[in-house]
Amino acid sequence: MSSLKTRERLSEVRYEIRGELARRARELEAQGRRLIKLNIGNPGAFGFRAPEHLQRAIAERIADTDPYTHQQGLPAAREAIAAFHKQRGTPNATPERVFIGNGVSELIDLSLRALLNPGDEVLLPSPDYPLWSAATILNDGRPVYYRCAPENGFLPDPDEIEKLVSSRTRAIVLINPNNPTGAVYPRELLERIVAIAQRHKLLLMSDEIYDSILYDGAEFQPLAPLAGDVPCLSFGGLSKVHRACGWRVGWAVLSGDPLLSGEFHHAMDLLGALRLCANVPGQFAIEAALHGEDTIAALCAPGGRLYEARRAVVDAVGASAHLSLVEPGGALYAFPSVTGAARVGFDDHAFALELLETEDVLVVPGSSFNVPYRTHFRATLLPQPDELREVFARIERVLDRHAER
Ligand code: PLP
Repeated sequence: MSSLKTRERLSEVRYEIRGELARRARELEAQGRRLIKLNIGNPGAFGFRAPEHLQRAIAERIADTDPYTHQQGLPAAREAIAAFHKQRGTPNATPERVFIGNGVSELIDLSLRALLNPGDEVLLPSPDYPLWSAATILNDGRPVYYRCAPENGFLPDPDEIEKLVSSRTRAIVLINPNNPTGAVYPRELLERIVAIAQRHKLLLMSDEIYDSILYDGAEFQPLAPLAGDVPCLSFGGLSKVHRACGWRVGWAVLSGDPLLSGEFHHAMDLLGALRLCANVPGQFAIEAALHGEDTIAALCAPGGRLYEARRAVVDAVGASAHLSLVEPGGALYAFPSVTGAARVGFDDHAFALELLETEDVLVVPGSSFNVPYRTHFRATLLPQPDELREVFARIERVLDRHAER
């Protein structure tokens, strides 16, 4: 009997954050090796906990979590999300235009499924968070990448974005603050991207899951308030800012002129209905998260654990003979590149494997994020600062060997 065939376009999809290297890491762990794994931005795996008032909000209502909710989510949670957006200045952010999902991940897939016909194009950042590429491909679309070049602080060039627009383009995706680069986009840049969407009648999709993880005075500007009437879908959730990845809670807020997005709204509602509803216990934490005290700011301020972790990485790269870094302004990652003699013949995959096999450290090769170069790697900032110093000492040892070759 021949083996089961699968969807052909899966061969185009990669998600190396949990791919071959992660599998190899598990094998090594099974052999008793103690690894430092920097591949996943999973706060709970590094000792962070969701704030207690969020845990209490679920515990107190656990008896109410048995039934399905409305496909778009609990009304009170949607009201809290709409109020949060209204306060930011998002136009027409009503509870009816909020969609709660099992993480932002589910909503990325669902919204692209609602939008795309075969052959439609989506403008994606390069580097991207690779789910965006995967979901575009698996919903029969075609990713078209705009560069966020390291020499430009990983910021996109709006002129280049506009040149990539074709008659098949349907949406522009932004990830701000960015994973993997940590870039935080300035207001003027966002305004220019809004103007492109307006000129070409494109949907704006803004993945803002790291919206308040910011360092050293970086300021986050949400896209929707700048977008006015232009249809814009803004994504947020509990996984990162509220350290509750495992609860699987995310949301998408549709803004702009309702007359321009009625059909899309209906499609989102229908696709949401087909999967019934999002995880209900997690939804009970949303009001507490958005109305309660801010618990992330202290972690990102001097003396806070994330701030000090980022500092440790910036200092380690500064002292390195082989690395350079665009300092991340936000999010949970550093995306350094290899320079100088160690760069000659460098291959990010071979390096990541060597680092794993010889130094017990797991990072993600930069090319996993859909860039055409193989000179970068991504490491999460979630470990303790001392552990990150140790990681970068080990990386330096490997790169010293490369430089000598
Ligand atoms: N978007 C970005 C940019 C991410 O980095 C992640 C997770 O790492 C997600 C979306 C998915 O988040 P979740 O499904 O946990 O809400």
